[in-house]
Amino acid sequence: MKKLTYLLADEAATIAVGDYLAKVLQWQCQQQHLQQALVVYLNGDLGAGKTTLTRGFVRGMGHQGNVKSPTYTLVEPYDLPPWQVYHFDLYRLSDPEELEYMGIRDYFTQHCCCFIEWPEKGAGLLAAADIIINIAYQGEQRVIDFCASSIRGEDVLQQLEQKYP
Ligand code: ADP
Ligand code: MG
Repeated sequence: MKKLTYLLADEAATIAVGDYLAKVLQWQCQQQHLQQALVVYLNGDLGAGKTTLTRGFVRGMGHQGNVKSPTYTLVEPYDLPPWQVYHFDLYRLSDPEELEYMGIRDYFTQHCCCFIEWPEKGAGLLAAADIIINIAYQGEQRVIDFCASSIRGEDVLQQLEQKYP
């Protein structure tokens, strides 16, 4: 499966790559006249840039307001027709049963883009990832890996590779 690696020099670069990912989905949607769900797992230490990347994505999908970290709420929804974007942060999840209570399965719809920080805390209850992102510190900068884990993920990364400078 495809793997892309980039060095992200600063916060703006992290936002930009999230924005490119949004552009890929919108471009595919225009080309193919259908939008397919995308599930992204985000791995990396605290402060690595998981929320920053998601912010770039959510804004790239057309959201104009704040993108706050869903640390306390577990999920922040964005209604961006024809998409439903859900940003999860499971860091504070103490019991996976909480995910059952919030009806986690209902979030994984046909038209969703789910970005999930700390996915290991929801192991067994989340939809499978299409793309797994790992962000690691490299001094003051970051290294980001995009790993495809489905045909859908492979397709998106193929386009990202062509569009990302
Ligand atoms: P996480 O969600 O992974 O805990 P955040 O996105 O909340 O991390 O915070 C990341 C922090 O690192 C922010 O202060 C942001 O300004 C900074 N940052 C993001 N991307 C980079 C980068 N590529 N290089 C250096 N600093 C970055
Ligand atoms: Mg975060």
